[in-house]
Amino acid sequence: MTAMSDIAGLVADARSAIEAADTTEAIRHVAATVSGKKSPLSEASRALGSMDPESKKELGRQLHEARTTVEELLESKRTEIRFTELSAEMAASRLDLTEYVPGSVAGPDQRGHLHLVSQTRDALEDVFIGMGFDVAEGPEIETDWFNFGALNIPPAHPARGMWDTFYLDLGEPETTLLRTHTSPVQIHLMERAVLEGTLPIHSVMPGRCYRRDTPDARHLAVFHQIEGLVVDRGITFADLAGTIETFTSAYFGPDIHSRLRPAYFPFTEPSAEFEVTCAICKGEGCRTCSQTGWIELGGCGMVDPAVFASVGIDSDEWTGFAFGFGIDRCAQMRHQIADMRALIENDIRFLRQF
Ligand SMILES: [Zn+2]
Repeated sequence: MTAMSDIAGLVADARSAIEAADTTEAIRHVAATVSGKKSPLSEASRALGSMDPESKKELGRQLHEARTTVEELLESKRTEIRFTELSAEMAASRLDLTEYVPGSVAGPDQRGHLHLVSQTRDALEDVFIGMGFDVAEGPEIETDWFNFGALNIPPAHPARGMWDTFYLDLGEPETTLLRTHTSPVQIHLMERAVLEGTLPIHSVMPGRCYRRDTPDARHLAVFHQIEGLVVDRGITFADLAGTIETFTSAYFGPDIHSRLRPAYFPFTEPSAEFEVTCAICKGEGCRTCSQTGWIELGGCGMVDPAVFASVGIDSDEWTGFAFGFGIDRCAQMRHQIADMRALIENDIRFLRQF
């Protein structure tokens, strides 16, 4: 027989046990002890069955109250523990981003930053965006058609010797290769513009290119180019020359100018190489520029009508120019880096300078 005083005692015991619990594990154990099937409260409820109706009613009510109190105490304690544990967890996982770790490689004065080539690409994009160009990109794996055929360089054309190519698959139906220049992006842009009726085009196309060259002080087998393409009505060679000059002064500074020299490229006619004032001697003549005062930067020209024909642009209505040059070469010239291979050697003493 369970007396009322016993019930009050059970609740008091449960209360002390619950209050003493301070972890999720402990409260789970206490809950089983004070309100589980084998707890004194459950045993008292089972004992009701053998009591006379009057005592049973009164004791049943008290047991119900006791159980409610215990459940409330348990729930309140669980909430408290959850909050405490979560706070502790958050405090433990907090990162102090300003903390200086003595002896570590990266102190607060040595934060990481973009690679010089990425910085140069961003700066070049900014200059061209300022001049009204938009920026486009294309795939690094191309078909023979996009890299050569559409650019007026059919198979067996002797001009193919100008690009030592990494071929991926010589099989049928299409030969695939790692693009040797960013010019195939021009073809993608023009095809899309024709398809969607969105001519004219004023775009620059930066990206990674591949050539089977042995790396030396001025060449890398994997390098970066930026290409420009304008297709519009009434575009002339003077627009090309003006664009190159505007870009040169905007990027290298007001003392640096450009000049064009006749050249040959299969995809432009007429074609030119463009040179900029030697940044080292400011045009006076030095060893780096072979005493000429000029450094060759890239190639350019008026888009060959044969290229327009390959993408379905009417060359009676539209004319255009294209230019391209090395982003790595730009970085090399602007920062007077003696050997371009330094850009890919990941020597942190070199990279930290920029
Ligand atoms: Zn010079």
